[in-house]
Amino acid sequence: MKKGLLIVVSGPSGTGKGTVCKELLAKLPEMAYSISATTRQPREGELDGVNYYFLTREKFTQMIEEGGFLEWAEVYGNYYGTPLPMIRKKLDAGQDILLEIDTQGALHVMEKCPEGIFIFLLPPSIKELEQRIRGRGTETEESLQRRLGAAKKEIQVGRKYQYVVVNDRVNLAVERIVGILEAEHRRVAQNLNLFEVLEHEGK
Ligand code: 5GP
Repeated sequence: MKKGLLIVVSGPSGTGKGTVCKELLAKLPEMAYSISATTRQPREGELDGVNYYFLTREKFTQMIEEGGFLEWAEVYGNYYGTPLPMIRKKLDAGQDILLEIDTQGALHVMEKCPEGIFIFLLPPSIKELEQRIRGRGTETEESLQRRLGAAKKEIQVGRKYQYVVVNDRVNLAVERIVGILEAEHRRVAQNLNLFEVLEHEGK
């Protein structure tokens, strides 16, 4: 059976990753989304089991010890991790799965799953990035400065990804990612079954 694609999307805070991933999922409803676990507090409107699994530090640490994460990382003082069972289940069932994770986590996934598709989202400019984070109104000045500093470092890691997409307009960024995934689905290695069917027919 054809395996699903493991798709990793990262990009600095304020690049609009969340919106792009949401639109992408709306456009490709057959694709699954990996719900991460985190120790950070829910933001207004966020629901447990929908946006994240909100865990205590104790529970999170226990899951690390039990090998329950594909990857995990500490981001802005909180833990974030990708629960492993759902990833395995979806990929084995031939379903694509989208991971929206930070660069530290993505680097771990690159080692563990080099067959994954790694896409880095860039803001059109640093100025635009700052405006977007400010506009969101969820950060204190200190936390904003911390996120901006981290963003500049994260952008450097983007060079290690396979694909880069500038999020100048959400619909354009989504189209570009759809194009990447379409091409990835057409890879010969993903479609050996097509050859087998034809070769069998000729016998
Ligand atoms: P936020 O707190 O804004 O939802 O997310 C902060 C950062 O954590 C974002 O860069 C987000 O992509 C990242 N993140 C979310 N889930 C995971 C995860 O499961 N693993 C890793 N490594 N990073 C994550």
